[in-house]
Amino acid sequence: MSRPRKAEDPIRWPVPCARCGQHHQTVARWPDGGVCGYCYQQAKRTRGTCACGHEGVLPGMVDDQPACRRCSGVRLNIDCESCGAEDELHSRGRCWTCVLGNVVDDLLTDPVTGSMANELVPLAAALKSMKRANSGMTWIRQKHVTAFLRNLAVAPTITHETFDQLPDSRTREVACSRNMACSPDATNFEGATRTGLRKPLNGQPTPKTVSSSAATFAGTINAG
Ligand SMILES: [Zn+2]
Ligand SMILES: [Zn+2]
Ligand SMILES: [Zn+2]
Repeated sequence: MSRPRKAEDPIRWPVPCARCGQHHQTVARWPDGGVCGYCYQQAKRTRGTCACGHEGVLPGMVDDQPACRRCSGVRLNIDCESCGAEDELHSRGRCWTCVLGNVVDDLLTDPVTGSMANELVPLAAALKSMKRANSGMTWIRQKHVTAFLRNLAVAPTITHETFDQLPDSRTREVACSRNMACSPDATNFEGATRTGLRKPLNGQPTPKTVSSSAATFAGTINAG
């Protein structure tokens, strides 16, 4: 997921990056040397367990091993103001997971009532718990996905027909086949997916089906 690199420019940036050795603009001076923007970005996203036992973001380098801030002396703001987690921050001091959570709540909450339909709660939970919150944000920020979720939020009842009324899109297909009210029970789930999604299905989803399908849905996003 790293950005494609620009060509090096040894004339403009004669001192190479301490980490990758390439000639790019130095954006930070850390104890192990000047680091370029690419390595800076990567450092913020490096997670693991430091030699000292600290688990979290390991932006530093000690003996060529990723190290925590305390061990490496690297100064970096990676403390989420909202949940307190040590993580890459997205905006206004909040981590990607917190921002994604707010976006999901916002999209799935009916603006008139100010509350979320019970049927949507498991979906919201599944979307918020996506492992790669930054990929989740990219996915959810697509116009058709945003529109789809907004429509769900104001649908008076969440049934298979609700999905049918939504504009045709791959998002609908995915949500419909993987999600909530479209399959009355787990055994029909695969069948419903195969036999076309437009035929109304009778029966209400059980809470179990709802949450497991929502989790599958989120898994699909994670995989995609
Ligand atoms: Zn570098
Ligand atoms: Zn450490
Ligand atoms: Zn957070």
